[in-house]
Amino acid sequence: MKCDYCGNEAFYYQRYSNKHICKECFKKDIERRVKKVLGRKIIKNNVKIGIGISGGKDSLVMAHILKKLFKHIPNAKLICFFVDEGIKDFRETAKFYVEDFCKKNKLKLKIIKFKDEIGYTLDEIVKNNYLKELNIGKPCSFCGVVRRYLLNKYALKERCDYLAIGHNLDDFCQTIIMNYIEGNIKNIIQFGKEIDDDKFVKRIKPLKLIPEDEVKIYADINKIEYQKDPCPYSSISYRHKIKEIIKILEEEKPGIKFSILKGYEKLLKYIEFKEDIKKCKICSYPCSGEICKVCLWLKKLEQLNKINKN
Ligand SMILES: [Zn+2]
Ligand SMILES: [Zn+2]
Repeated sequence: MKCDYCGNEAFYYQRYSNKHICKECFKKDIERRVKKVLGRKIIKNNVKIGIGISGGKDSLVMAHILKKLFKHIPNAKLICFFVDEGIKDFRETAKFYVEDFCKKNKLKLKIIKFKDEIGYTLDEIVKNNYLKELNIGKPCSFCGVVRRYLLNKYALKERCDYLAIGHNLDDFCQTIIMNYIEGNIKNIIQFGKEIDDDKFVKRIKPLKLIPEDEVKIYADINKIEYQKDPCPYSSISYRHKIKEIIKILEEEKPGIKFSILKGYEKLLKYIEFKEDIKKCKICSYPCSGEICKVCLWLKKLEQLNKINKN
């Protein structure tokens, strides 16, 4: 089969575009889409971008493409943030991939540790049964919130204009569909709207238009090595079921992932959404209550620690 763009040997058939593509044109196509998502507002002189990096394929592919796109932009700066929650073995493997990647790509790397920031590793939180005390069901609910909090904290500290998160097209579709099904209308709107606050670094999602399987192909043809094993705390979740459903739909009607996203973005335009952004009384980051979740949890953990010592 010949590439539909350049006539060279094709290696991949893209069902949703009905095109056969060669490796070079595939790379270009992916990079062009990232460029389209970011636009000139973000790809500009003097911009500083923080990159949340985990060691998985999405964040490493994202960092790889950002590095390429910003190479010739005058005075643009990139810095990677790696959050080490302290999950034995799993995080150490991830760290190995991340350090190797950043060294090879000459990217600045900042490692942020749960232990230093909140006094405990995630393993300790789980082992000590603190999740129950904090009224949290799964480790991921604690971990995700604290990670986001810390990424914002360090992106602010480093004076980043944007914080790049490696969500791909599949992640977007799953979040949208899950929230629709559960009727979480507030969540679904918040997901699409930006928080405008000087204590919140604006998020960008460069991989928004790239399906998960193409992120993987991009990683493979660029020889990007990444961590493949899943987090030991992740379970076969509701999200996974939704993923399977979307997969079936995509097989029957290629391109449905793009229409899920497009439809959602159209809907957002019709929704007026104003929420009073309050400031956390302890850390002053934007939140919905008086005190943000992280500060609330930290206060409780401190109390638990005192009780244990007495
Ligand atoms: Zn080609
Ligand atoms: Zn707070």
